[in-house]
Amino acid sequence: MIASEAIGLYIHVPFCRRRCHFCAFYLEIAQADRMARFQSALLQEIALHAQQDVLNGRCLRSIYVGGGTPTSLPTEYLTTLLSLIQATWPTSSTTEITLEAHPSSVTFTDLTALAKSGFNRISFGAESMKDQDFSSIGRYGRVRDTATAVHESRRAGFTNINLDLMYGLPGQSLQDWIDTLESLVVLEPTHISCYALTVEEDTRLAHEIARKVVSPPDETLQIEMEAAAEHVLAEAGFARYEISNYAKPEYACRHNLLYWTGGEYLGLGPSAQSYVEGTRFGKIADLESYVETLGNHHLPIVGQTTLSTSEQQRDALVFGLRLLLGVPRLISRAAARDRQIDELLAKGLLDSDHDRLWLTPLGRRYADTVAEILF
Ligand code: SF4
Repeated sequence: MIASEAIGLYIHVPFCRRRCHFCAFYLEIAQADRMARFQSALLQEIALHAQQDVLNGRCLRSIYVGGGTPTSLPTEYLTTLLSLIQATWPTSSTTEITLEAHPSSVTFTDLTALAKSGFNRISFGAESMKDQDFSSIGRYGRVRDTATAVHESRRAGFTNINLDLMYGLPGQSLQDWIDTLESLVVLEPTHISCYALTVEEDTRLAHEIARKVVSPPDETLQIEMEAAAEHVLAEAGFARYEISNYAKPEYACRHNLLYWTGGEYLGLGPSAQSYVEGTRFGKIADLESYVETLGNHHLPIVGQTTLSTSEQQRDALVFGLRLLLGVPRLISRAAARDRQIDELLAKGLLDSDHDRLWLTPLGRRYADTVAEILF
């Protein structure tokens, strides 16, 4: 098995106050009774995994509570959840503990309780700093809440703060995007993620594009926006270390690095994915069935697949190439993809030297195509 000792824990909280027009994640609209059922099933899921000793005594390198919008849950649910995790599995003083949050869903009191309970990294879905972009993607809240949330979280004790952004939104110009980047950089986050808008099947955005109410994303403009992000963020001291991720020195996301370096992770909550000891598996993407299965003292595992050594090596190559540093040539040789790699080098999608292999700027733009060729 390729995977190292490092292991992370991911928790999917499947609730949001409203569904954004582009979003295809598994989630439902937050309601108190549904969240209470989810919380008690989730605590049961932790107890069952602990009984089966799935982590084999290993220390958690990272804990990542994502979604959905985890801060849709009452704050005491989140602090209780983290206490139970820490009482169940070993952590260390360097364990990165991230909470995703909507800037309009947290108060200073919430943030203080969350920081005190042990969360040490907060990731706000900022998306844009232009009000008109919020209405075009159906996002609730006000853009000015992002600045307040960042200031309040710092006052509450968070020093590691990420902002998630999206570009190529309907009607967004290059200048709008540069303005967004510049107004967020002055807030001094430690990490910024920039995602190009993509159109997922069966979303409101996809339907509106089909009805010609909204224009599809303009690929040429998105390429200019990606270049602008790299430039503005480099000027502000951020290094791009993955296709969509930029960090100040020492602040690359330890949890996400596990995904790109063949690390292992256990996923909890409906639709969460896991990779443990060479086996991939998911949790059922349906809250009702998730609650019922756990109520019967069974783990709601679906889609369990044990990867062969060559499949593990192929995955390490495909995911590792997302990093700007690329992967050691050793991994590409072990993955036995020589013919495909020659094809990608010839097309200018990959570059290499004696030791390493990495995506070119063109390859980063077509990373999904590169992955398809390597699979
Ligand atoms: S807040 Fe995030 S998870 Fe929730 S609907 Fe919007 S994009 Fe999806």
